[in-house]
Amino acid sequence: MLNVPSQSFPAPRSQQRVAAGGRSKVPLKQGRSLMDWIRLTKSGKDLTGLKGRLIDVTEEELKKHNKKSDCWICIRGFVYNVSPYMEYHPGGEDELMRAAGSDGTDLFDQVHRWVNYESMLKECLVGRMAVKPTLSKDYHEEKKVLNGILPKSQVTDTLAKEGPSSLSFDWFQTDTVVTIVIYTKQKDINLDSVIVDHQDDSFRAETIIKDYSYLIHLGLSHEIQEDFSVRVTENVGKVEIILKKKENTFWKSLGQSLESHNSFIPKEERGLFYRKCQLISKKDITHDTKLFGLMLPPSTHLQVPTGQHVYLKLTITGTEIVKPYTPVSESLLSEAQEPVLSNNKCIYFLIKIYPAGLFTPQLDHLQIGDNISVSNPEGSFQKSQMEELEDLFLLAAGTGFTPMVKILNFALTSISSLRKVKLMFYNKTEDDIIWRSQLENLAFKDKRFDVEFVLSEPPSEWNGKQGYISPALLSEFLIRSSDKSKVLVCICGPAPFTEQGTRLLHDLNFSKDEIHSFTA
Ligand code: FAD
Ligand code: NAP
Repeated sequence: MLNVPSQSFPAPRSQQRVAAGGRSKVPLKQGRSLMDWIRLTKSGKDLTGLKGRLIDVTEEELKKHNKKSDCWICIRGFVYNVSPYMEYHPGGEDELMRAAGSDGTDLFDQVHRWVNYESMLKECLVGRMAVKPTLSKDYHEEKKVLNGILPKSQVTDTLAKEGPSSLSFDWFQTDTVVTIVIYTKQKDINLDSVIVDHQDDSFRAETIIKDYSYLIHLGLSHEIQEDFSVRVTENVGKVEIILKKKENTFWKSLGQSLESHNSFIPKEERGLFYRKCQLISKKDITHDTKLFGLMLPPSTHLQVPTGQHVYLKLTITGTEIVKPYTPVSESLLSEAQEPVLSNNKCIYFLIKIYPAGLFTPQLDHLQIGDNISVSNPEGSFQKSQMEELEDLFLLAAGTGFTPMVKILNFALTSISSLRKVKLMFYNKTEDDIIWRSQLENLAFKDKRFDVEFVLSEPPSEWNGKQGYISPALLSEFLIRSSDKSKVLVCICGPAPFTEQGTRLLHDLNFSKDEIHSFTA
């Protein structure tokens, strides 16, 4: 069970004080945790005041419900009475009131698009927005007011025109295979850019092109074998998905269009897609951090790009809960003492278990063979930020180390211009340091790499660095290999750590392009 929240929660330095992205989290009253909210939603209490009835809500009606005690918000065309949720909202009542009586889709997407509000707020559902008979001529003006309830096709058409280029796909067959070809006409497409899932009757191939997503979504006309291959010709941006026919028959058509088939829209407008993965390993790394290995289904092609994260989804007492996690490689060094490159069928996560947390104790209870849903990747880090890099500085605190793992591997194996990689790793005690000996071994083996551990609660015999991120620690650490060297500083940890560190980096004259801060 969850601990009873303490009066002093969140502790002054706690990650709960400020949410990632800089939003202030407010102290919640006792009995107002997410778990308490889940309990309330299961209690059978009428949370909408409509006794289970669903209604069509006009804009005029929505506007009337704009008080804390009577607050309706529209998200993607569905209207929720969020008054009962006010005291449970981690961002506070005022934040929620910003969308009172109006369409909160944009606000919601800016802050936490990945939160599964449909599941969290299902007992607060009042109904749908009543569809207006005609759309205003001024499309953009209308979208501002009614974001989320516009017919999807209009949004898609408009944005596709404004997007980087239009897309097309084609297909052809031999006796044994069907090949789907997508011509992206973009040069920076690689195997990470293509995510393919074949589940039951649905075949889904999403191609990420810069900030856009192109989707092929079909009910295939014939059966195919479980495994398929994906090929990318990088210099022309051609993607080929090669499906193996189950029977050597001639296909008259590829299949039937399913939802959003052949659509090309901004990435953030595409809902997150999940597939069930199997827990295949669980290994203690520190006293509270474990390495979880998940296996993708055989008919999924998914490679999480370096520096990006996914969302893991579990159903906790009937409510779907989603949290972000950053995949790592299975270890920093292989048997051969080489940096490890990714294995495409397994995804590994270093996850700290918070005994009083909502999600991680449930994750920890999973047994080998159990399923957990994993989303498509997200995140703003681009490998191109590392092109021609000479100095790479990594500032990590606690599990903020996770994005650094793949970045470090990629830098050491693939960036020929690289001269120096330095990691400054902040932890409370020595026992909290993840993969300490692996890091020390790597520093011993590869002269380009150095690691420095900083402890906020060091033992008396500790002769390393101590304290919190500070100008003194940073200026001593961030020494470029030459005055004009191309440099990147990556920073990740509890949100206040990342925010403070980013401010200090600006004070030390690192430019915006030289800093990558990991936030939600
Ligand atoms: P929560 O329920 O959020 O609780 C966290 C802490 O707050 C616990 O100590 C809990 O005791 C305390 N707490 C919560 N509510 C109360 C209350 N009412 N009163 C008192 N105390 C309370 N984490 C990793 O371990 N590995 C990763 O790779 C990773 N990647 C991430 C990537 C991104 C982009 C982001 C934003 C976060 C990432 N995280 C990662 C953090 C992760 O998403 C979760 O926030 C973390 O696992 C905690 O989840 P939880 O539900 O178990 O804990
Ligand atoms: P932790 O153990 O609580 O903290 C690690 C170190 O940072 C400790 O030395 C800690 O000092 C210090 N610290 C904490 N708050 C600080 C602050 N405000 N200023 C300066 N130093 C501070 O860390 P954790 O529990 O592993 O949490 C890791 C965090 O990283 C989580 O918030 C997680 O969400 C985030 N994360 C983000 C991403 C991403 O991509 N955005 C990825 C992974 C993890 P004390 O303990 O002594 O206070």
